[in-house]
Amino acid sequence: MADLVGKVGLITGGGSGIGRATALAMADAGAAVVIGNRDASKGEAVVDLIRGRGGKACFQKTDVAQPEDAKALVARAVSEFGRLDLAFNNAGIDGEQVPLHEQDIAKASALFDVNLKGVFYCMKFEIEQMLRSGGGAIVNTSSIFGLNGYPGWSLYAASKHAVTGMTKSAALDYAKRNIRVNAVGPGPVETPLLAKGTGGDPNSYSAFVPMGRIGQPEEIADAVVWLLSDAARYVTGHTLPVDGGVCAQ
Ligand code: NAD
Repeated sequence: MADLVGKVGLITGGGSGIGRATALAMADAGAAVVIGNRDASKGEAVVDLIRGRGGKACFQKTDVAQPEDAKALVARAVSEFGRLDLAFNNAGIDGEQVPLHEQDIAKASALFDVNLKGVFYCMKFEIEQMLRSGGGAIVNTSSIFGLNGYPGWSLYAASKHAVTGMTKSAALDYAKRNIRVNAVGPGPVETPLLAKGTGGDPNSYSAFVPMGRIGQPEEIADAVVWLLSDAARYVTGHTLPVDGGVCAQ
């Protein structure tokens, strides 16, 4: 297992699915974690779980679409644990699966506010803090939809391609300043988000996956912990597909 002992990390969308599994994995790897989530009860439940396992964690109610919330999340890491070394910018929503001309303009705006601007706001304040303390590592959640196109998902795919592009360019901005910026590109993963997007039948996506099954949140978490750890110290600007082979097709 990758080693995050002594590190302080934050996770957005840490109350459910991939974020929840990654919060647990980061804590198991030795990091103190700050969980930012829009839904307080889910985020607090993950904090209780980590503390019950002997780890260090706290919760900060956060809507990543609000810049002041992103700033407060970073400030909480510093006030609670003294520093910020790691960040997993993961909170996201999926939007509607309809052709582009049927996409709703107000819903499009909300999607970009969370999936695109939310990652920008968080990275901005995380990087300001990491520059002050001498470095850090960031992982953003993109998607296989951030690497390829899929019918009906033009806006979600646009938001995730934006995350892939922001990851690459930010990695270059800070490559000489000891801040690595990477992303994960999950394939279909068994979470409440996928259940909603598939009308309650997430396994319907298995047929599109070369390995013949959807992924588990813990399988994404393992990749994120590796990317955040010093084991990945020469990796930056990369979006790592964790997708059962989807992007190899
Ligand atoms: P999920 O719905 O299980 O969890 C998302 C969490 O984010 C929830 O706890 C929710 O409360 C929180 N959240 C939503 N909007 C927020 C906001 N504005 N501010 C703060 N928190 C907010 O979903 P998941 O499947 O774990 O998705 C996590 C990330 O992974 C998303 O970015 C999603 O686009 C991406 N992703 C998921 C899959 C998949 O198949 N599940 C595949 C590729 C990428």
